[in-house]
Amino acid sequence: MGYRPHGLVVVPTVSRRCYHSGFLTYSTMSQVIAVDLGGTNVRVAKISGDGVIEKKISSLTPASPEAPADIVDFVIEMIRSISEGDEVSEFGGIGVSVAGPVNSHRGMVINPPNIALPEIPLAGPLVKEFGIPVRLINDCPAGALGEMYFGDGKGCRDFVYITISTGIGGGVVAGGKILLGRNGNAAEIGHFHVDTRYNLMCGCGHPGHWEAYASGRYIPEFFSCWCLENHVKISGDWGRSAPGIFEAVRTGYPGLDDFMEELGRINARGISDVIVAYDPSRIILDGSVIRNNADLLLPLFERYIDRFLPLPKIGISRLNGLSPLLGASVIAHGYDTAAGTFLTGADNDT
Ligand SMILES: [Zn+2]
Repeated sequence: MGYRPHGLVVVPTVSRRCYHSGFLTYSTMSQVIAVDLGGTNVRVAKISGDGVIEKKISSLTPASPEAPADIVDFVIEMIRSISEGDEVSEFGGIGVSVAGPVNSHRGMVINPPNIALPEIPLAGPLVKEFGIPVRLINDCPAGALGEMYFGDGKGCRDFVYITISTGIGGGVVAGGKILLGRNGNAAEIGHFHVDTRYNLMCGCGHPGHWEAYASGRYIPEFFSCWCLENHVKISGDWGRSAPGIFEAVRTGYPGLDDFMEELGRINARGISDVIVAYDPSRIILDGSVIRNNADLLLPLFERYIDRFLPLPKIGISRLNGLSPLLGASVIAHGYDTAAGTFLTGADNDT
């Protein structure tokens, strides 16, 4: 048998409703439900123990929820829809991956970046509704778990999953185990400090963070600031979106190579910090910004990354953006996040 990551507790199924003290006892042969709650889309899937997505549905995240119950009810309806008449209680568990900080112990989303609610208690209401274990995890560690079990993280004891999308985030596997931190928010690498020249303000309220320059949401602001600083005037409104800027680079719009070099230095500063923080043997990149523009961005990463430590292998995820959803299925099967089963909704985040 090959390398098996620590943490997945595989115990023959005695009873499909049997569990104890945070170590789920469901067989990985059972189907689970995986939920990926993003700022833009909600994806829900039926997934088998070997990572086969048997059915997947997607819907836009409710734009202006007035209360947490609006999100909870929406997710419940999607779970009912995908179970297609099967009793949800017959599934092995529910794993939920969410964009934004979490309290994994309490099964809550905290200050989600694209949903205007301070917190959303999610796991407790889902347990109450369906009566099966529910676990919740930040989508970046979820992505790392997806890679660890089904992607390029297989057999790799030390790697970092980095998503460069609307925001920037990371999931770290160290010594074969996912790194979660106190409440499940370790490796919020998008908030690494990478610049003192432009001092762009990050959505978290602090200047100079990686996400404030190189994420899909903020690349246009960085570009606008760079144009002002370098007296570059552009015509048209393509500079208002990251895809527009990358398209202009591809069509050879004059002067943009210098902006790409600057963006490359910023990304390389972030990656260099990831390397010295976690000493990974591999970095797996995911997220629409890097997936769609690897040809432009990757060579710059490698040109400017510090060589203080040996360069890890750096590549793009081959799971087609499904890593967080697959990672949600891993926790649904009983990967030990030391975060409890949420069956009581007890507040144990001390
Ligand atoms: Zn920040």
